[in-house]
Amino acid sequence: MNKKIIPYGRQHITEEDIEAVKEALLSEYLTQGPKIREFEDNFAKYIGCKHAVAVSSGTAALHLSAMALNVRPGDKVIVTPLTFVATANCVRYCGGEVVFADIDPFTYLLDVKSVKKLLESSPKGTYQGIIPVDFAGRAVNLEEFKKLADEYNLWILEDACHAPGGYFFDSNNEKQPCGNGNYADLAIFSFHPVKHIACGEGGMITTNDDNLYKKLLLFRTHGITKNDISYPYENSIEFATGGYKDETEYPEWYMEMQELGYNYRLTDFQAALGNSQLKRADEGLKRRREIAKIYESAFKEKKYILYQPGVVDGHAYHLYVIEVIDRLNLYKYLREKNVFAQIHYIPAHLMPYYRKEGYTEGDLPFAEKYYKHCISLPMFPTLNEEELQYIIKTIDDFYLK
Ligand SMILES: *Cc1c(COP(=O)(O)O)cnc(C)c1O
Repeated sequence: MNKKIIPYGRQHITEEDIEAVKEALLSEYLTQGPKIREFEDNFAKYIGCKHAVAVSSGTAALHLSAMALNVRPGDKVIVTPLTFVATANCVRYCGGEVVFADIDPFTYLLDVKSVKKLLESSPKGTYQGIIPVDFAGRAVNLEEFKKLADEYNLWILEDACHAPGGYFFDSNNEKQPCGNGNYADLAIFSFHPVKHIACGEGGMITTNDDNLYKKLLLFRTHGITKNDISYPYENSIEFATGGYKDETEYPEWYMEMQELGYNYRLTDFQAALGNSQLKRADEGLKRRREIAKIYESAFKEKKYILYQPGVVDGHAYHLYVIEVIDRLNLYKYLREKNVFAQIHYIPAHLMPYYRKEGYTEGDLPFAEKYYKHCISLPMFPTLNEEELQYIIKTIDDFYLK
């Protein structure tokens, strides 16, 4: 038996990472220093988008995005149920209403047909936006969603937490990396340790839209700005500058709180870690794809497998999911053998909070059926051959015993 527990995901911290954080800790800045911008620029380049805004978590990224997209009380937003609950919750933070649509049982992604059905069954203007998730690391075909979004005047917020480095091919057969902003208005990422790039806590928002970018910067820091002094309240400027102001110059201390924002900043030493991790992102992705190939061929012909999506071009493999018979007992058996596989996710609409909003079993049959059989196998770049073979053999042993 494997002596050490094999988790479903694990961060990879190198000496180089430690040096990068140490350097940041010994610098002038623990927070609000130059590492943040450096991380944003590097990340934007990696993803292939115009702007990136670093924030304190993926959840903060979702909240700021919902604010920037102007979600208001009563607004209806369509969300996939197969995700971490934070995806849906950002709509609630702004007082909006979450409307779940079902998944495609083969891709596990928000089903464009199910969304279309919702849109067609209500008058135009009923819904304001869509939040699809690149679940498990598989890229949503955003071109399809964009057609619907244009027709119904909706925004798209892509939750790409599982998929930095993932991509889909559009109808011109061009590669469209997750979060590149060509189809979605905004995309968000998380740097929680189980994700591809670890900062401890942390998140990023990407966009090609200059206006949304400006709003995000404002909301990230209390709604305060020192640079963009353009608010229409001249009286406020006159009072606060105490007569210092001439036509072109403001005193050093002058700043404006223009909107109600939050403190959702990332620290400099976290950004330093992010920068260092980002350098190895492609390497990690390559290993994840190798592991997926090995899993796929190991389970291909197995009778206990009900379904596995297997190897898909552009998949970033945050998770490797299989659907199996007798899932609960397999899960228990694996834990006894130190393989800590995981179940992702309890469909969000069946959480007590969303049940209170009126959801119940049977509402989203494909998400619920998936949940009965799914299990996420260990998937992280430092998973070695021996561990991988041990996991596969342990699963086999369970069904053959
Ligand atoms: C991790 C995750 C989040 C939340 O990110 P945090 O950084 O933990 O706040 C949101 N959506 C999805 C799909 C995630 O996997």
